[in-house]
Amino acid sequence: MSGSKTRLQAIDAVKSYQPPAGILPTADAPGEVFGQNVFTKAVMQQRLPKPVFKSLMATIEHSKPLDPTVADVVAAAMKDWAMEKGATHYAHVFYPLTGLTAEKHDSFLEPGGDGSSIAEFAGKTLTQGEPDASSFPNGGLRATFEARGYTGWDVTSPAYILENPNGNTLCIPTVFVSMNGEALDHKTPLLRSQQAMAVQAERVLRLFGHAKPDAVVSFAGAEQEYFLIDRSFFLCRPDLLNTGRTLFGARPPKGQEFDDHYFGAIPERVLAFMLDAERELFKLGIPAKTRHNEVAPGQFELAPMFERSNVAADHQQLLMVILKRVAQKHGMECLFHEKPFVGINGSGKHVNFSIGNGTEGNLLLPGDTPHDNAQFLVFCAAIIRAVHKFGGLLRASVASATNDHRLGANEAPPAIISIFLGDQLTDVFDQIAKGGATASKSKGTLEIGVDTLPVLPTDPGDRNRTSPFAFTGNRFEFRAPGSLQSIAGPMVTINTILAEALDHIATELEGLVTAGTPFNAAVQKVLEEIISTHGSIVFNGDGYSEEWQAEAAARGLPNLRTTLDALPELITDEALDLFSHYGVFTHREMHSRHDIALEQYILSVGVEARSTLEIANTVVLPAALRYQTELASNLASLKSIGAELDTSTLDEVSTGIRALRAGIGALRSGLTHKADASEAEEAAHALEVLLPAMGAVRTASDELETLVADDLWPLPTYQEMLFIL
Ligand code: ADP
Ligand code: MG
Repeated sequence: MSGSKTRLQAIDAVKSYQPPAGILPTADAPGEVFGQNVFTKAVMQQRLPKPVFKSLMATIEHSKPLDPTVADVVAAAMKDWAMEKGATHYAHVFYPLTGLTAEKHDSFLEPGGDGSSIAEFAGKTLTQGEPDASSFPNGGLRATFEARGYTGWDVTSPAYILENPNGNTLCIPTVFVSMNGEALDHKTPLLRSQQAMAVQAERVLRLFGHAKPDAVVSFAGAEQEYFLIDRSFFLCRPDLLNTGRTLFGARPPKGQEFDDHYFGAIPERVLAFMLDAERELFKLGIPAKTRHNEVAPGQFELAPMFERSNVAADHQQLLMVILKRVAQKHGMECLFHEKPFVGINGSGKHVNFSIGNGTEGNLLLPGDTPHDNAQFLVFCAAIIRAVHKFGGLLRASVASATNDHRLGANEAPPAIISIFLGDQLTDVFDQIAKGGATASKSKGTLEIGVDTLPVLPTDPGDRNRTSPFAFTGNRFEFRAPGSLQSIAGPMVTINTILAEALDHIATELEGLVTAGTPFNAAVQKVLEEIISTHGSIVFNGDGYSEEWQAEAAARGLPNLRTTLDALPELITDEALDLFSHYGVFTHREMHSRHDIALEQYILSVGVEARSTLEIANTVVLPAALRYQTELASNLASLKSIGAELDTSTLDEVSTGIRALRAGIGALRSGLTHKADASEAEEAAHALEVLLPAMGAVRTASDELETLVADDLWPLPTYQEMLFIL
């Protein structure tokens, strides 16, 4: 069957789409569904002996070390619970540096001595697993002779049951490390960084008079953007299948309206998907709320409620799995790529974060009293210092071949990292820099505190959507992370740079107080120092503007446009020392992360380049040649009857074909492998040669798309994919 027939059949399939019977969610109250498949605190309390439950809670809620002797009891309770819920298997779930979620499945049932089978799940099996680790990137951390990797139970992230028509699976979130305990995943450093940040934050809290502060944790709430397209179209697009983005596709004619026939179906189908997805997420204890997103056609957003960053990161990964699965059930494909469609808004994953603990609550929430506010301003100042000092690391934490298509483009935050504070908070810090804030800017809250710090209202009122790092009243929102990536990487960086800044602040304050400076004056001094040294990171203007590029350069803020500009930030002496000092990454681990990121970049662009070449050769060129033949035989027929000849269409198509062939030639030679190239050379080659060569092929193909007869064009068009749902 020719490609064009496949496309036309896909359109027919969409037109006659009927939702499969019996898949729509039932009307269960969310309360009954929520957490139904989670080994929750309530389930544990019910099923575990009291001392075991208490010991586990001390670890989960107060960051106390896990008592290994409870493992057997917990494992047995978990197994019984899971089997009652229909689980036949268990899986250690881990998060390797591919960015995907990996699972190692095992059966609960083991053969008994007499040919029967017994359900086995010992504490040892719960706490440790040994997956075949050789297929995951390790950046040189594992030589082949020691290819083993271990998974280890993360008791702070709840176990859950993933339903499957062929049997349910008990899923246990785990870390994934090498034989020597080196991190091979996203979770290990997240847990380490969380701990590092907590130690320093608690020091600061003690200085503020909280003698025994509860363990501080970081919270994250991620807003996930995604596209939905009909799955029939998806399956006709080898570029989407292979790379997650369209490597071809002319932009739809401007001002093109929806076809009314299809428009009517959009809300029902997507709504059914959303309800179904929400229900599945609720079962897993993921508090999610879907929303229609007006920004781009076919684009939507889902924001789960914020949770501890470690749990939020796991839930975020699970959420992507669930969305994909449910979309397929509804005949659609969910696209998480940052830029599936050129010329259409891309997708991000805004990471909202705050820090806090049980006794103090949210430390990024301005308080009611000057004293509370001094504390709030100190934590805010820590973020200002952290982001200014380590903006390059934040940029590197969101660097990928796929996010490169989004960052710095018009509708996404720029690659320059800056902070938006809002007018009021900026004004307060400006006053501090000038030697003491006496009043906050907005009317009605003017209050000169005994501590020389003003009372701040909790809502700064203004919002800025162009800033990569914005204060939004009680949290910061990091808007640069890509829709495809794990939020763990950015959170590791945020926690670690915050640890450094809080460490600095605590040390300064301790020094000043010991030397006899009154505490309030010490706070004043430290804030003053931070804002005058690091205040240039604050920018409340339009981050998308041309002027900001120049202004940022004048302020000395880095503008790391591509992944290859950003990755070296990971291995500067400063970065290596930072991460090793706070016990988050050894130098070796850091180098391995850098190497893996580079390797992923090369792989990613390589797959795109090879897909482009293949599609151009086997899909686009044949369609263009068929049309050329049709036009030529049309001219031949006309000539045979002596009719007037107009070769202009044929000429245009022939010109297009020549351009396409030239592009194909250049891309093919770009793909010729240089045997002795280093990784750095290969990456540079991908950026400087392959990406532009792919672009040239695409330009030629997109031009042909506007010329070739529609019934011969094999690839579903932008208009079809974006507007027919
Ligand atoms: P927006 O105004 O950007 O649409 P929402 O109110 O929908 O924001 O929240 C976006 C995300 O921020 C959600 O995941 C939400 O749970 C999270 N969030 C809210 N408060 C906090 C907080 N204190 N710390 C971390 N995340 C938070
Ligand atoms: Mg937001």
